[in-house]
Amino acid sequence: MQPSRRRIGPRRVASLASVTVLTLAISTSATAGRLMAGSATAGPIAPVRPSTLRPCMIRGHLGVQMPEGIPTPTGYAHSTGTVHALNLMIDFSDAPGQGSALDRFAEFFPQTQEWFTTSSYGRLDYRPEAPIGRWLRMPKPFKAYGIERGAPFDPGYRTLIKDIVTAAGTRVDFRHYDLLNVLVTPNAGPSALDTVLSVTFAGNGEAPAADGVPISNASFIYSRQDDGSGSYSRTGYRVLPHENGHVFGLPDLYTQEGGSTVGHWDIMSEDWGADNDMLGWHKWKLGWLDDSQIGCATARGTTDYTLTPLARAGGRKLVFIPVSPKSGYALEVRTREGNDTAVCRPGVLVYRVDADIDTGNGPITVYDSRRNSGGCTHSPNVQAELSDAPFVPGETFKDPKRGIDVSVLGTDPSGNHRVRVTRR
Ligand SMILES: [Zn+2]
Repeated sequence: MQPSRRRIGPRRVASLASVTVLTLAISTSATAGRLMAGSATAGPIAPVRPSTLRPCMIRGHLGVQMPEGIPTPTGYAHSTGTVHALNLMIDFSDAPGQGSALDRFAEFFPQTQEWFTTSSYGRLDYRPEAPIGRWLRMPKPFKAYGIERGAPFDPGYRTLIKDIVTAAGTRVDFRHYDLLNVLVTPNAGPSALDTVLSVTFAGNGEAPAADGVPISNASFIYSRQDDGSGSYSRTGYRVLPHENGHVFGLPDLYTQEGGSTVGHWDIMSEDWGADNDMLGWHKWKLGWLDDSQIGCATARGTTDYTLTPLARAGGRKLVFIPVSPKSGYALEVRTREGNDTAVCRPGVLVYRVDADIDTGNGPITVYDSRRNSGGCTHSPNVQAELSDAPFVPGETFKDPKRGIDVSVLGTDPSGNHRVRVTRR
């Protein structure tokens, strides 16, 4: 296996096997206090949706883990408005914190909050707080928790969370926070170049409680995602917005084969290397796009749409073409701006969303307009083949079996793209 591949290669699927059970449990019990307990509403989901969009609000069956469907199940942190993120820096007797705990915090902030501000068009006001500015020493050595790649929540993480809560004591009121980031001293466990341990347990209503609320949405960050290219200070934080994406209910888009199904088009697919944004589908799911910014292409015949670049606020961002109650094609315009720093062929990205596929098994697949081209990027840790995936004026995506054509008609000087959807 190539070293660069190993660096961005597959890592553990972050959801719990028991997530669906927990989700059901949460939906039947009222939650008290703030959103650590899991918001009673999924945040982004308005109670009434336009009926014209309903065919595009695809849903899988109940057992799907971290489904792409809309709306997002309850139990995750809310993804719009002010989100209070509690950050605790922890160390161990066999991995004592080196340097200041606040330096560890500074590896992720303010970049993470800036990333969310940019990607959400200001709709997610992420407030990172570190009420304890020192390393919180855990009572047991790191080795004693049995934490390794793929480790389940029980018993290691349950014990660790209990120990964190005890160590924080009265200095933290957990009711004030919507999610928890545990920033582990980087010398605990293997290098991220060998094994990425970073993981999130999301929507976990059975997690240990603190101050009366379960720690149901928690991300654990280990080591440093430093590829040695010299970009760590600019890009090393990106594991945190990825892990927090799970806290908001998003699945992993990389698969056993790594980032070959979505490439660098979403931080849930690749969180090493150059900055990237999120797919428009995820932005709709998180409530960062209004329903009015979505086109739902159900009609037979020909319909034209104008899509504005996803990185800019305002305008139509996403056209969805449902092909079943569980799946469909999404179209959006990606350009090199905002969080998208590595786009080398701007245009209309076409991808399939399947709400019936579990996290980590490829719920989203990007279609490559230029298959086997090798791609257009030389940026390290960016999946190259799909980097030139967008369709440009004159090109057409076809699904003959379902009678669907998507043609890119042209662009205007500000980068808006006209697309024509034909359904037979
Ligand atoms: Zn993940």
